[in-house]
Amino acid sequence: MIHQFINNGYYIVLDVNSGAVHSVDEEMYDVIGELAKRVPDMARPEKLPEGARRETVEALSGKYPAGEIAECLDEAQELVDLGELFAADVYQRFVTDFKKRKTVVKSLCLHIAHDCNLACRYCFADEGEYHGRRSLMSYEVGCQALDFLIANSGHRTNLEVDFFGGEPTLNWKVVEDLVAYGRKREKETGKHFRFTVTTNGVLLDDEKIDFCNREMSNVVLSLDGRREVNDRMRPFPGGGGSYDVIVPKFQHFVERRGKKDYFVRGTFTRYNKDFAADVIHYADLGFDKLSMEPVVAPPEAPYAIREEDLPEILEQYDLLAREYIKRAKEGRPFKFFHFMMDLSQGPCVAKRLAGCGSGTEYLAVTPWGDLYPCHQFVGNEKFLLGNVRDGIKNTEIQDEFKLCNVYAKEKCRDCYARFYCSGGCAANSWNFHGTITDAYDIGCEMQRKRIECAIMIRAALGDLGQDDGYRPKDPSEE
Ligand code: SF4
Ligand code: SF4
Ligand code: SF4
Repeated sequence: MIHQFINNGYYIVLDVNSGAVHSVDEEMYDVIGELAKRVPDMARPEKLPEGARRETVEALSGKYPAGEIAECLDEAQELVDLGELFAADVYQRFVTDFKKRKTVVKSLCLHIAHDCNLACRYCFADEGEYHGRRSLMSYEVGCQALDFLIANSGHRTNLEVDFFGGEPTLNWKVVEDLVAYGRKREKETGKHFRFTVTTNGVLLDDEKIDFCNREMSNVVLSLDGRREVNDRMRPFPGGGGSYDVIVPKFQHFVERRGKKDYFVRGTFTRYNKDFAADVIHYADLGFDKLSMEPVVAPPEAPYAIREEDLPEILEQYDLLAREYIKRAKEGRPFKFFHFMMDLSQGPCVAKRLAGCGSGTEYLAVTPWGDLYPCHQFVGNEKFLLGNVRDGIKNTEIQDEFKLCNVYAKEKCRDCYARFYCSGGCAANSWNFHGTITDAYDIGCEMQRKRIECAIMIRAALGDLGQDDGYRPKDPSEE
């Protein structure tokens, strides 16, 4: 199976099953396109069928000289011999009984505060109140959560804990104490905690910044971009925008952060379909590690992204990709999370098996210790999995989450992105289809476009190397 696309003047051929990416000229692009109509996936080494070669020459003879087409066909044969074109489909081999798959917990999202000092209009947390249960996590519950993670992590050494909310800085003393507890448990167990925090920035001060820079492997700073965009969706509870309070704090934070990881992360909605301008705005503010995600929202929400918004949104990714290349060439690069695709490592089979990991490897913990598949499901009792004291009780729901991956989903079977995608967002699938094991089609369109952009960027920056192309492995080897 191949996927071909032209983006920003680059003619790209992705050989889906081998993962090989070829940036070619128009003629070779056309030749491969014609061959693809006639050649099945091949076990190598195998010769291109004579009939397919002849018919390709005939189909393109009005456009190119026959001798040139023959040269392209020979080149195509070389790629087949290398296993980089029309490679055999190994996908089906990986389809197993996913419910039987044993999983370990690798990361927790600790809802350290179900409370917030902002009132974002798209807030999954009901503006931090989580549908009436405003609450802070106690130190004791936090310790039980870390112990639960250690006990359920199997042989895995590196464990991730994200301090999340609401707004974690509203319960900062507990955050500090839990990091200390985690460091103590590391010594006792040989595990290693990688702590991260997601904050809206309102209460950031030097003390918290220094603590984060010492202890947090990554910090996610929430901001939606341009002032008018941010302030429309991220106001204070009494009204009034948050941009002017937050931006200087984030700039100060990033200055002190040095080379350590951080992301400025935003959410875009149908109110700012021109979100590329918001990402570029981040870069203009001096931030260089950026992320912008489509809103997760019920379809009836006025700000939810609709199918008719897609053409404009996809165009924005193209626009952003061109700016990404331009700035990289000018020596003022920025990173955009979705364009940072490592083609040489290829897709991570383990990650694809887990999907985003929600419900299996990644769990959300409420302030009182209940476990949910991820923050988007908190408060929906159907998805209550158990709690940090007694462990997971609702294994039926957990089994369903094991099916949230590209190998188990029908829609992913014929999708070219299946080796790069983690299987989409279960929460969005639930919102749009009433089941977590479908694929959220709007998200899929965006995902496929982002992958195309990421590949094109690599071609444009002269970064498609010999090593590009993965060999999918049997997941049981992971
Ligand atoms: S900062 Fe986060 S928790 Fe607070 S209202 Fe906004 S989205 Fe909700
Ligand atoms: S983009 Fe959608 S259909 Fe394609 S692999 Fe990802 S979840 Fe599946
Ligand atoms: S289900 Fe969606 S919102 Fe939840 S962790 Fe996965 S990608 Fe994120």
